[in-house]
Amino acid sequence: MSQHIFDYAIVGSGLSGLACAVRLSQETKNVVLLDGLDQAGGVNRPISFPTGTINNGLRFVPDTELNRQALLFLEDLLGLKVVAGAEHRPPVSFEEGRLKEFVGFGENPPEFYDQMKPFMNPDHLKLNLEPALWTSLLLEKFQGQFMPRSYVTRFQVENNEVQHLTINGAKTIRAANVIYAGPVKSLSVLMSQDSLSARARQKLAKNVYWTALCLDLCHDKTVTDSEAVHILNGTTQDEIGPCAGRFMPPTETEQGPRQTSQWVTFLDEEVTEDSELVGAALKKIKRQIKRAYPEALEGLVRERIMVSPMVGGDGELKLKGNQTMPEAHNLWIASSALAPERGVTGALLQAHLVLAALGFSTRQHHPSEVLEASF
Ligand SMILES: Cc1cc2nc3c(=O)[nH]c(=O)nc-3n(C[C@H](O)[C@H](O)[C@H](O)COP(=O)(O)OP(=O)(O)OC[C@H]3O[C@@H](n4cnc5c(N)ncnc54)[C@H](O)[C@@H]3O)c2cc1C
Repeated sequence: MSQHIFDYAIVGSGLSGLACAVRLSQETKNVVLLDGLDQAGGVNRPISFPTGTINNGLRFVPDTELNRQALLFLEDLLGLKVVAGAEHRPPVSFEEGRLKEFVGFGENPPEFYDQMKPFMNPDHLKLNLEPALWTSLLLEKFQGQFMPRSYVTRFQVENNEVQHLTINGAKTIRAANVIYAGPVKSLSVLMSQDSLSARARQKLAKNVYWTALCLDLCHDKTVTDSEAVHILNGTTQDEIGPCAGRFMPPTETEQGPRQTSQWVTFLDEEVTEDSELVGAALKKIKRQIKRAYPEALEGLVRERIMVSPMVGGDGELKLKGNQTMPEAHNLWIASSALAPERGVTGALLQAHLVLAALGFSTRQHHPSEVLEASF
């Protein structure tokens, strides 16, 4: 029996994969979106917390031209206004017993400086909608087939073309075009020894990848009204380095006042398995919070830790001008690590590049069609 052939198979339902999926399903319903997890959204999947839905990460989007373009593309996909305006709010650090404007790391930048850099931008975009809501709204707009718990374990490449995908090591599916929106590093596992050039394999192995270590806290009080990004490092240099964090606006619940704060630092991917180092990094984050806000850690309502491997990296994989792999003309790479910006907007920009290369520019909404989000 001949197997069904999808027009597009999209691997990974993070922001990048979802953006591709929504736009492509406006052209054809014969699109499948695959994810190894049981929920869509990737890093930006919604997380339930005592103060409501939160996001992994600080939801911080620097005000740059590229980021504005990325969010216009998202507004176009959602038909909703996402950007609420811009704000100038320099980050702060805790020094000499008080919070001060952060002036940089001086002569001791952390090794993961590039990962921290976006958080240091004093100008950022205010959002109507949090990224966790972007992903759930995008999934609602997707008109093809979503297959959760479907981890792609192999791209079967023959004659310079992906012939089929293997899912969970067993089932296969076929698609005329495959869009990969997972971590670039995994390509060296997904493609067999003979289907990925030695050069590409070497590049993937040489890239530096980071693991994000996130700590989300729900405080039983209002700790601060400051919404500035905090960059905390302490007084002594150690192998762990600084963290960035921010306090969300306080909320009043039936149980009393609550405030969520979210913190992130980065660890060399090689040491992610080292539970002692992960524990030490978490302790360091807490120490820094306590130094700046001595009462903040008393009476915590909830504490959540997330370790997210393979973020960042310098994405040195060489693609063809049309964002395909030289080894397979129908394999398009929408991984955010290859984008010209980091973070959530990087995911959108890379998706936009792939869609443009496939010949699908965004559908322009009439301004009156772009609605103010009412969330
Ligand atoms: C802790 C943390 C804090 C952050 N803070 C910010 C911030 O403040 N501002 C900002 O702009 N950005 C931030 N980011 C970065 C931003 O969240 C990411 O860059 C962006 O969400 C990546 O989106 P993505 O679609 O490329 O990938 P992901 O969200 O990682 O999605 C990839 C998806 O692909 C799936 N997948 C992978 N491999 C396979 C496979 N083989 N088969 C099937 N499915 C597969 C995964 O399960 C996942 O769902 C942060 C990231 C982290 C981790």
